[in-house]
Amino acid sequence: MRFETKAIHTGLKLGNPSNAIIPPISPSTIYEIDETGYNENDLLYSRLDNPNRLQFEHLISTLENGEAAAAFSSGIAAAKAILTALRPGDHIVLPEDVYTGNRNMVNRIMAPWGLEPSFIDMTSIETIEAHIQPNTKLIWIETPSNPLMRITDIRAVVELAKSRNLLTVADNTWPPPVNQLPLELGVDLVLHSTSKYFGGHSDIIGGAVIAKKYDDFFERIRLNQQIGGAVPSPQDCWMLSRSTRTLAYRMKGHNEHASKVAAYLIAHPRIADVYYPGIATHRGHEIAKSQMRGFGGMISFLVDGNQEASIKIVGSSKLITRATSLGGVESTWEHRQSSEGKDSITPENLIRLSVGLEHPDDIIEDLDRALK
Ligand SMILES: *Cc1c(COP(=O)(O)O)cnc(C)c1O
Repeated sequence: MRFETKAIHTGLKLGNPSNAIIPPISPSTIYEIDETGYNENDLLYSRLDNPNRLQFEHLISTLENGEAAAAFSSGIAAAKAILTALRPGDHIVLPEDVYTGNRNMVNRIMAPWGLEPSFIDMTSIETIEAHIQPNTKLIWIETPSNPLMRITDIRAVVELAKSRNLLTVADNTWPPPVNQLPLELGVDLVLHSTSKYFGGHSDIIGGAVIAKKYDDFFERIRLNQQIGGAVPSPQDCWMLSRSTRTLAYRMKGHNEHASKVAAYLIAHPRIADVYYPGIATHRGHEIAKSQMRGFGGMISFLVDGNQEASIKIVGSSKLITRATSLGGVESTWEHRQSSEGKDSITPENLIRLSVGLEHPDDIIEDLDRALK
């Protein structure tokens, strides 16, 4: 079956004894124990497992072509579950422009815990190799990166990691599986903030880890979920399954609109540079083409001007909403450095735009007005 079909039909029968076409939301926190005692696969308590979480986990692992998935209460909780499955003293390599929330979590929670991070330029395989130490355990991939839209060569990183016996994780939040399938390229684990394109309507915070193999490492991630406790509610899992049914079509729209908007921005005299991997002149375009099926809905661009000029442009839109985050049906944009705070390496004249599903001509007309 193809992606669109799997997205619509997967996970409907799990924990759904009445055969409802759409499974009900199961709010119960507890489940009746069998007369003969507790059996291993029975539901017991909803922090450990519940029908709606099982349905969503099955759905997202199927769409990423994984063996198993664990859903969390946020993308960062999912990321932290991967890192705490390592051991204190372990070293990891991650992009210098990794998602800013993950950078904060690594520096302020995982480093005091005992994790040793190196934030590096992941566009060069030589640089990655030069940073591998005897205690390195894992390479963290985020491609396209946020917000600089750098492209990492997933196949090359996997080859290096395998030769050194290292785990690989890909944060696949920006190009959800419609556009990129890291597990197919040999990556071990995929991370999602489901708050973005999976949720798709700016109304859910959630996260997930999908594993290529249900091995001992994934077992530790599962333990972090069930015993660590950062779990999503049945209601949120139900909403996530619902919005995932239309993910493929929403992404087709995001991909199409963003490439139109990118072409418009390139031609605009007030724009100094446009970072979108679908553009033929983008530094990572050839690699992006070899590992992505669509280039996504996110665009960053540099204004020909300073911070003040950039903030003024963002303040001049009527349709595009000023907000952080991404992946909703509505277009949003922000002066990214202001959102990232003092550790940011983002240029002062960078605007990050999440291209939504409004008519693309309306989005472009609003940009035209703001860039006057
Ligand atoms: C938003 C985001 C996260 C964090 O997810 P939350 O759901 O906000 O905790 C991680 N990685 C990327 C690339 C993101 O955009």
